Amino acid sequence: NLTDRLGGVFDKLRGRGALKEEDVRSAMREVRIALLEADVALPVVRDFINSVTEKAVGQSVLKSVAPGQQVVKIVNDALTEMLGSEASDLDLAVAPPAVIMMVGLQGSGKTTSTAKIAKLLKEKHGKKVMMASLDVQRPAAQEQLKVLGEQVNVATLPIVAGQMPVDIARRALQSAKLQSFDVVMLDTAGRLHVDQQLMDEMKAVANEATPKEILLVVDSLTGQDAVNVAQNFSEQVPLTGVVLTRMDGDARGGAALSMRAVTGRPIKFVGMGEKMDAIEPFHPGRVAGRILGMGDVVSLVEKAAATVEREDADKLAAKMSKGQFDMNDLRTQLRQMTKMGGLGALAGMMPGMKKAKAAMSASGVDDKVLVHMDAIIGSMTPKEREKPALLNAKRKIRIAKGSGTTVQDVNRVLKMHQEMEGAMKKIRKMGGLKGLAAMFG
Ligand code: GDP
Ligand code: MG
Repeated sequence: NLTDRLGGVFDKLRGRGALKEEDVRSAMREVRIALLEADVALPVVRDFINSVTEKAVGQSVLKSVAPGQQVVKIVNDALTEMLGSEASDLDLAVAPPAVIMMVGLQGSGKTTSTAKIAKLLKEKHGKKVMMASLDVQRPAAQEQLKVLGEQVNVATLPIVAGQMPVDIARRALQSAKLQSFDVVMLDTAGRLHVDQQLMDEMKAVANEATPKEILLVVDSLTGQDAVNVAQNFSEQVPLTGVVLTRMDGDARGGAALSMRAVTGRPIKFVGMGEKMDAIEPFHPGRVAGRILGMGDVVSLVEKAAATVEREDADKLAAKMSKGQFDMNDLRTQLRQMTKMGGLGALAGMMPGMKKAKAAMSASGVDDKVLVHMDAIIGSMTPKEREKPALLNAKRKIRIAKGSGTTVQDVNRVLKMHQEMEGAMKKIRKMGGLKGLAAMFG
């Protein structure tokens, strides 16, 4: 974890006036490793480190946070800025039909993303969308898009055997104009590797269809390789954005940073799975956190800062700094969770919470159960709340009776307490909620 590593580098620096060049340089060595581990391309890492070093050197050390945290914050901000600061939408402002052309290597997720975006445009934006497959390379490609079209209820251009991609594009546009479609999505053929034939075909289609958006689809799991692909494509066609697929996998998101740096274009969507609604707008801040290996602690802290009552936060911070997290704290957290949008909103934001959430849903815990848990804690004696280890079988039976639940439910609360305690320890390592809130607030 980057924050731990930086903590080590900076511990001795506490209380000094300004961030010194040599300290920043040794911190940047850690940042460099973190970025490479996250699969950011080497040249991109180099540029990034240089610009951040320049920014950080000479900044005065804040009193309220550890210097390590301060540097993480500087790095986090620089990452976010480089990733594009905020989500950017599709630009379809043109006399209809607006054409969106999807390009990329074979298997990157073009066809899937085409159907996902079409569904999104139809359902969220009320657009009348037509999709057309220009993939004459793979035998079943056009059929694949047709099937997806039926699945998401979006029209596809009827398949005519033997047509070339440019002809299909022309036919799609004519047909869309006649039937007054708002958007035409062109799903092009990929190749296993970039080759000139593919590029020429792409250029010809772009000339014919004058797309408003040309989206490069890249698989986030291909890491370094994705950079060469992006480089090649962006030299040949005027890309307007990137779709990063398979972000549901264990990619750390480094490809996002590389993509942005190489193409100079915003990432517009991320693919989060094979299902048709598994697509999201790109959130630079979230991905920055992922790259730095902080889970989404950043968004959690922002959310927490917005909802946690000052007093509660201070109390909790004070306790946590002593390494305590008891049932009273869990109760506060449960109530907090409900306020912050329930379990679903929390899962995935924090390292550890995803697993906890999965474990909880597996045993049937949902937002309603949060209320039960509150009742269970209410049935504990003050001593038990402070020291959950006291809870033996006999006490558990009493509590279950008192709260109108089962011993299994009580055990669930204990398990959750353990999970939360673990998560809290992680936060504590980073300087506590208060420190975090100060640095991100
Ligand atoms: P194409 O050759 O570029 O058109 O790629 P496809 O759209 O046919 O996708 C190839 C495979 O990747 C399919 O099995 C998709 O279901 C899968 N896929 C696409 N996007 C995602 C994603 O965001 N997450 C996951 N897990 N799988 C994806
Ligand atoms: Mg395809």
